[in-house]
Amino acid sequence: MKADLKIGIVGCGIGGLALGAMLAAKGHRVQIFDQFKAPSPVGSGLVVQPVGLEVLKVLGVAEAVLAKGAKISHMRGVEFGSGKAALNVSYGARFGLAIHRASLFEALLSKALENGCEIVPSTEITAQDGHCFKSKNGGSHGPFDALVDASGAGSKLSPLKSTPLKYGALWASVDWPAASTLPQHRLSQVYGGASRMAGIMPGETTPKAAIFWSLRISDFDKWRAAPLADWQQAASDFWPEFAPFVSQFSSHDELTVARYTHGTLKHKSDGRMAYIGDAAHCASPQLGQGANMALLDAYALGTALGQHPVELALKVYGRARRRHVFSYQMMSRFLTPLYQSYSAVLPWIRNHVLAPLSSAWPFAPVLTKVGAGDVIRPVRGLAWPP
Ligand SMILES: Cc1cc2nc3c(=O)[nH]c(=O)nc-3n(C[C@H](O)[C@H](O)[C@H](O)COP(=O)(O)OP(=O)(O)OC[C@H]3O[C@@H](n4cnc5c(N)ncnc54)[C@H](O)[C@@H]3O)c2cc1C
Repeated sequence: MKADLKIGIVGCGIGGLALGAMLAAKGHRVQIFDQFKAPSPVGSGLVVQPVGLEVLKVLGVAEAVLAKGAKISHMRGVEFGSGKAALNVSYGARFGLAIHRASLFEALLSKALENGCEIVPSTEITAQDGHCFKSKNGGSHGPFDALVDASGAGSKLSPLKSTPLKYGALWASVDWPAASTLPQHRLSQVYGGASRMAGIMPGETTPKAAIFWSLRISDFDKWRAAPLADWQQAASDFWPEFAPFVSQFSSHDELTVARYTHGTLKHKSDGRMAYIGDAAHCASPQLGQGANMALLDAYALGTALGQHPVELALKVYGRARRRHVFSYQMMSRFLTPLYQSYSAVLPWIRNHVLAPLSSAWPFAPVLTKVGAGDVIRPVRGLAWPP
């Protein structure tokens, strides 16, 4: 394939930057459009799973993110009151990297710029027009040999019809309290059935933490209208070790309200346009795969474009990712209600059937691979590991 394709990418997020960096490194001319005024680090913590780290190695940013994040060896969740283990998944010989979204973003952005990507800010793309993109202000951008929608869960270009989930979460980054005795190599969670969930994820090496508090969408306004101290008290009563983390807030505005949707595109490309990341498949973050799926999509599409003419490459990309995406979306759909739902039966099954099974052979090693992101081969028909 000729090495001077013009590639237009909508969305300067995790997937768009990873793909842009990869293609620009191969000599293609890449423009990445985003609606933001300037690239800005936003969001809270996320976990880069072992599969995501493989992609970051290919991009040459693994060292930068490893220097910033905190390695976690396992994920553990206990039931409120009884303290009984309800989740216990180890990474085995590997590890997940808990990192602030901003640090991952910054590492990818600097690699994309270094490789020669052009970032075009303040440009909200509203439609595809043949080989071009149309922006909100009426501008036309292109033509491009390949167009990519990496504009996330709220994509205006993707035909994806996603379903809003009834539960979301409050998210925030805080300093790791010096007095906390929680281990800094573990993602810790506490559940109250499936209707309450609090979590603490180690963050940056500084050290930082990302905290989350599960909340029904219908309760968001109530939470905001009540004094913050009421929630801080309730959260601390629920999980006393949470107290020094939540006591750091002085305003509701320091917490981000996250809403989740679930949906999967059947066809990840059509004609000259490919859909990657949340624009192609979105899910609750319960399995911790969002950024990793975007990285895997970027790797698969970038590799396919390096081996085939554009139209075929887009098809190869879709085939390469189909089974992995389908499997993880199914698992997310099945597992999310065990942790976030109105059900009383599902958390009972989680605590009394699934949790004991999860520590026993052959389920324990399978769960390790589910968490790592490679219980199914992440890409088919293309080199993996990269
Ligand atoms: C602001 C933000 C904060 C997040 N915080 C967290 C977090 O704390 N923890 C976590 O686990 N996950 C978080 N996520 C989700 C996680 O990052 C995604 O699952 C993952 O990054 C998927 O990557 P993506 O490339 O598909 O989309 P994203 O990383 O979501 O990037 C999409 C990009 O497209 C841009 N965009 C959207 N629409 C348009 C348009 N019409 N025209 C131009 N540009 C457009 C957006 O501004 C954004 O920069 C966050 C996502 C965002 C956007």
